[in-house]
Amino acid sequence: MPEGPTVRKFCSVTLPFMGQQVTKVGGSTKQILLQDLMEKKFQDCQVHGKNLYLAFCCSINKQEKVDNVSTQDNGKSEEDCSLISEPSTAPRDKITTETSEETLVRKWLRFHFGLFGSVRANELSRAKRGNKKGDWKDPTPRLIVHFDGGGFLVFYNCRMTWCSCPFVEPTSDILCPEFDKEKALRALSNPRPVCITLMDQSVFSGVGNIIKNEILYLARVHPLSLGSVLPVETLIALINYAVTFTADWLNDKMKRKALHYHIYMKEQCENGHPVVKEAIGPTYGLKRLTWFCPICQKLVRSGDIVQPAPE
Ligand SMILES: [Zn+2]
Repeated sequence: MPEGPTVRKFCSVTLPFMGQQVTKVGGSTKQILLQDLMEKKFQDCQVHGKNLYLAFCCSINKQEKVDNVSTQDNGKSEEDCSLISEPSTAPRDKITTETSEETLVRKWLRFHFGLFGSVRANELSRAKRGNKKGDWKDPTPRLIVHFDGGGFLVFYNCRMTWCSCPFVEPTSDILCPEFDKEKALRALSNPRPVCITLMDQSVFSGVGNIIKNEILYLARVHPLSLGSVLPVETLIALINYAVTFTADWLNDKMKRKALHYHIYMKEQCENGHPVVKEAIGPTYGLKRLTWFCPICQKLVRSGDIVQPAPE
């Protein structure tokens, strides 16, 4: 699943289209009405955690706005709620005075990407291999948006929904300067396996399975060690790895450099030990494949004296 840095890259793909108007819409999605995007102006792009948010706006005259708001009051339309939920950072060209005849309405389209989700500009994804019957079938775009500049954006393998404003606490976003390391430390100190806490999006928004595996290896922490039995220095190191690894990954992505994995999907760790692959997750939650080296990443139990990893 695309993680924080990948979704930021998707955002950069959309930037050249900012300020352009939608002229044609297509795609297989049934989650939104395609015509709702028609003639809207693409105005902003933000990433929060693993979600991509694109703002579209259109101008409506006052009467239309009154009509829409009254529809919402009757409880007939949820989507119209966004008419009254402008983000506080209103665009410069928004006309807000009572006397104005028209106002700009901004709505956000939120994208959440599946395992192989992607965004492309001005090109369609092509089949890389034939299926069992030998047919070469290109992936089906969920959404294609053409702009008046002549280009288009294509979205694959994603869910989308309209929302009023993009919101994830910046203090929980691993890529935000405001990321709250103390809150992260408190969460990690709980008596549960650290690999599960790291996937908690309310604390580590943007961290996914790859980042989890990599930083646990870099910090030499066994995924099943309980946070409550690990020394606080180890937990702080883990948080610092989470921040720097994610930032480095984003940097590499922007330079089109491939990420070098230390443990993820590896047969051997960097010290030549065989790597263990296990599905680990909360008792009633999603189990995620976890790669670790049982020698470099010793399991710590309550009462153990933690020493630096051998070698
Ligand atoms: Zn090892």
